Amino acid sequence: MKKIFAANWKLFKSPKETREFFAQFKELAGKATGEVVFFPSAISLEAASESLKGTSIKWGAQNAYFQAQGAFTGENSAQVVKDLGGSYILIGHSERRSLFGEGDALVADKVAFVQGLGLTPMLCIGETLQERESAKTFRVLETQLNLGLAKADKTKPLVVAYEPVWAIGTGKVATPEQVAETHTDVYSILKALGFESAPILYGGSVKPDNAAGLIKQPHVNGFLVGGASLEAKSFSEIASV
Ligand code: PEP
Repeated sequence: MKKIFAANWKLFKSPKETREFFAQFKELAGKATGEVVFFPSAISLEAASESLKGTSIKWGAQNAYFQAQGAFTGENSAQVVKDLGGSYILIGHSERRSLFGEGDALVADKVAFVQGLGLTPMLCIGETLQERESAKTFRVLETQLNLGLAKADKTKPLVVAYEPVWAIGTGKVATPEQVAETHTDVYSILKALGFESAPILYGGSVKPDNAAGLIKQPHVNGFLVGGASLEAKSFSEIASV
């Protein structure tokens, strides 16, 4: 299965900073060992689209509504992302779930809509520390996948990002053993649901010095990277493992 290295820029980088980043990153991108995808913030998407034209580097939005247009103040249109040349939409990131109240039913509508447009949803799932410590990880992931994929099309592209909430932006990376065990569980849940061809990315404090150990684990098909993707050199090192 091809590897995918995705960058979640959250609410960082203006259009100018986005152009400057890509001027540098394009020089380093030749060493990537898989597909490279960027999720800039909404206002910088057009700058990313212009900077990446004519390259094989993909990009998408961090969130989009499940309708193409209408009276939905503050939302993003996946149709416009498609028109600008984007390929992916990130859906259900833990910050969307915890800070903006997104639940699994909304996630399911977004996954289905994005697939229907011919874009690839990158569905994020993950347990909190409390859920892990009370041995609920499998059940939480199973519920998020069951509900989040309830309206998804098994014949269309899908990528899943497993991101333990306690490892996102905390510097506390999951151990290779935890990643191996949980990715094997995620794969078995996806298989039972008929989505076994979906690549499974790991996310949570991935850095150049831990990426090589994590990529070797079973059913790890790439990474979703936050903090370490903001600098061209560190993200290109991660994408070269
Ligand atoms: C993320 O934002 O999806 C993420 C994994 O962030 P970080 O790499 O900074 O933990």
